[in-house]
Amino acid sequence: MTVASVASRALAGVDAPEVAVEVHLGPGLPAFHIVGLPDAEVREARDRVRAALNHARFEFPARRITVNLAPAELPKDSSRFDLPIALGILAASGQLVAEALRESEFVGELSLTGELRPVRGALAMALSARAAGRAFVLPEGNAPQAALAEGARILPARTLLEVVAHLAGEAPLAEYAGRAEPARPGYADFSDVKGQQQVKRALEVAAAGGHSVLMIGPPGTGKSMLAARFPGILPPLSEAEALEVAAVHSVSSAGFDASRWGERPFRAPHHSASTAALVGGGHLPRPGEISLAHHGVLFLDELPEFDRDVLEALREPIECGRVAIARAARQVQFPARFQLVAAMNPCPCGHCGDRSGRCRCTPERIARYRGRISGPLADRIDIKLEVPAPREAELIAPVAGEPSASIISRVSAARERQRARQGKPNALLGTKEIDRHCATDREGDQLLRHALARLLLSARAYHRVLRVARSIADLAQAANIAAEHIAEAIQYRRLDASF
Ligand SMILES: [Zn+2]
Repeated sequence: MTVASVASRALAGVDAPEVAVEVHLGPGLPAFHIVGLPDAEVREARDRVRAALNHARFEFPARRITVNLAPAELPKDSSRFDLPIALGILAASGQLVAEALRESEFVGELSLTGELRPVRGALAMALSARAAGRAFVLPEGNAPQAALAEGARILPARTLLEVVAHLAGEAPLAEYAGRAEPARPGYADFSDVKGQQQVKRALEVAAAGGHSVLMIGPPGTGKSMLAARFPGILPPLSEAEALEVAAVHSVSSAGFDASRWGERPFRAPHHSASTAALVGGGHLPRPGEISLAHHGVLFLDELPEFDRDVLEALREPIECGRVAIARAARQVQFPARFQLVAAMNPCPCGHCGDRSGRCRCTPERIARYRGRISGPLADRIDIKLEVPAPREAELIAPVAGEPSASIISRVSAARERQRARQGKPNALLGTKEIDRHCATDREGDQLLRHALARLLLSARAYHRVLRVARSIADLAQAANIAAEHIAEAIQYRRLDASF
């Protein structure tokens, strides 16, 4: 046997396409070539594999070794292929029975002494290995994450020697049996927030229907405090959603922490974030903040301070729930179904409209400041509200606000109505679905048409108001949208004219 093939996985977005690691030993002067990886990474992979084999006292063949990673056009992180390359060399040189390799897939970076080091994307790869019906041999450190793929056969190993002993039938690897328990999310509670009844009500409506929110108010009014508590009033993730969240995080630079299994993401990138940091990118594309916020909350504080290009890049994901990143050879997609919670000051100095009269911003400056949020983006934010400075009486009042646990019970009931009626949150209803599910009575319709004319809102706003009104009616457990629900929904579009 001078040829061997070992199954492994690459990463493309959150997918893990199969890669065949083919090793060929040929006549000629000793050499070691790897085809299908960039040069610098080839050198490192060769050094690690050679050192690990020598350290484990295997014979490193004095032949012309060619390793081909197929298909060639897939982007590849090199280090994950160390283990399959080492096994391929052992099989091709007769130090391991090639048959043994057939029923498994392998990934793992090798240290110079043959220990297996964790790699990125273990969950995504485990899901694919499960679909292919093969066992998945991987570094021990990756096992808890990979085991989130229920029913996958996960065989963790600490060293190259352990994998070889397993394949030789001398010491089979034990299947990983641990299973992550859902995390108990530690969100701060709404009961800490005193006053701000109207703001809390608006956030409840946003949570009930999955609507985007923009809070406008001077500094120190608790906008960040409110946003940080928002994920705590969203219903728990379903198992399928939790798996999607974990898969996206597993391919990110930071990786997925299995102790946060089942937790709704809350991401709050700084306004200096680049487009790539926000929407994703890189030579081997990694998910950006909007994908790391998938099924969770993306909080953008000081919204007008974000780069205009960054804000424009949000429009499409808000609409379609995913983002496409184009690379020279191929395009990868990441899911990005996040709920946007944004905050901003009312003017550049922050004090426009407050009682102190401190604000000296000219109307032109204020218009320019708000104008940094383009009309089309502002249009996609269903709920806009003012967050006033709390009155002194509210701040010193000893009564606590309503706890998140009681808000979440109303939100969950409203979400359940939506699931039963239309299979999705109200914020995701298309125009035709709005016609079907968001009918209002004559009084409500008249109120809405009158308000749109008075507030100079676009025809699209008609449908957007109806979606929010539907969520308000769902919170009230009402089958039909009444005029009072429309009236509240209109309040949340009142600020549209200033964008
Ligand atoms: Zn000002």
